Amino acid sequence: MKYVIVIEDGASDYPIEEIDGKTPLKIANKPVLDRIAREGKTGLIQNVPENLPPGSDVANMSIFGYNPMDYYTGRGPLEAASMGVETKQGDVVFRCNTITEKNGLMASSNADHISSEESAELMEYLNQYFNEKYPDFKGKFYPGISYRHLFVYNDKENAEKLAKLDMVPPHDFVGEAIADKLEFDSFADEVKFTMLESKKALTNHPVNQKRIDEGREPCNMVWLWGQGTMPNMPKMEDVYGLKGAVITGVDLIKGLGICSGCTNLDVPGATAFFDTDYKAKGEYAVNALKDNDIVFVHIEAPDEAGHAKNLKEKVKAIENIDKYILAPLMEALPEYGNFKIAVLPDHPTPIDFGTHTRDMVPIAIYSSNDEADDVSVYDEDSVKDGALGELTGYNLLKLLLE
Ligand SMILES: [Zn+2]
Repeated sequence: MKYVIVIEDGASDYPIEEIDGKTPLKIANKPVLDRIAREGKTGLIQNVPENLPPGSDVANMSIFGYNPMDYYTGRGPLEAASMGVETKQGDVVFRCNTITEKNGLMASSNADHISSEESAELMEYLNQYFNEKYPDFKGKFYPGISYRHLFVYNDKENAEKLAKLDMVPPHDFVGEAIADKLEFDSFADEVKFTMLESKKALTNHPVNQKRIDEGREPCNMVWLWGQGTMPNMPKMEDVYGLKGAVITGVDLIKGLGICSGCTNLDVPGATAFFDTDYKAKGEYAVNALKDNDIVFVHIEAPDEAGHAKNLKEKVKAIENIDKYILAPLMEALPEYGNFKIAVLPDHPTPIDFGTHTRDMVPIAIYSSNDEADDVSVYDEDSVKDGALGELTGYNLLKLLLE
């Protein structure tokens, strides 16, 4: 038996006035997904537990078969896994944004989309600065892409408390005062110190002098958030007996792949944006069937279109997934005998909101050896009559294995 799970990130939506109360899923031309719904079973699925934010990391952790209430420890740790950062006991992994501070305010949460090269130089300098000035400093900076970096801090005694510290994502308070967001208990003194001291270190750095000379905003501080200890996830093979492969352009999802013991397949041209190479992803997915029991194919484009409030791109993304990913998969899968394919978003990213919501999302599952229900198309409303009823995300793998 082969299994495929195709995740159309953020694809489901609310009724949109511009298209007579329909949704992108309702107006998109998606014959293959409609066939999966027509010849398979459908329903609704909740991937986001009540007490957690509707992030892609949380929702996809459910789809990978892990209850986020038991295993989710933050986005920093998942990004560390995807970047191959080695961690040890007592480590807390923080997301580290390079930001612009101005007059005590968060002027830019991404330092005007600073380049990876400039950031790498600043991260390297911060390591040097803290190590020379404070030989007992227990943190290390790891440069990532553009403004998105990591900071790993070791504190065995306070790791659990630090992991739970309420740290505000920098994009949530642009234009607001920074000091208000740094009122922590004393166990977090060194974390606060790291952020404040980074300003001293970075303000006069040559990278920033050059930026100012060129009329750009300086990157004069780092902001730590999204922290956690490394999640203790058992391997998918041990829990479900499935050897898995993951295809995605998104670091967080790659991190889930690593933490669950799956193989991440790097697809050239997978950009995690509208311009991703759908065809290449489809080809890699088909190839991955040979050596794996289950293949996860995650496509970020519909979510990005939702964030951009771009209806046309969202419809196009859904149509491209159908033509270049679902069609070749449905053609290739019968060669392997019995198979099941599930298609679902992780969460809605409604065009009118431009952000994630926590509603249930439509799911369709086609099994080569099972009957169909009465639902004939795939969209947010039609699946409500489906035979699957209402599912919980982390039970999906169990259901597929039945
Ligand atoms: Zn998502």
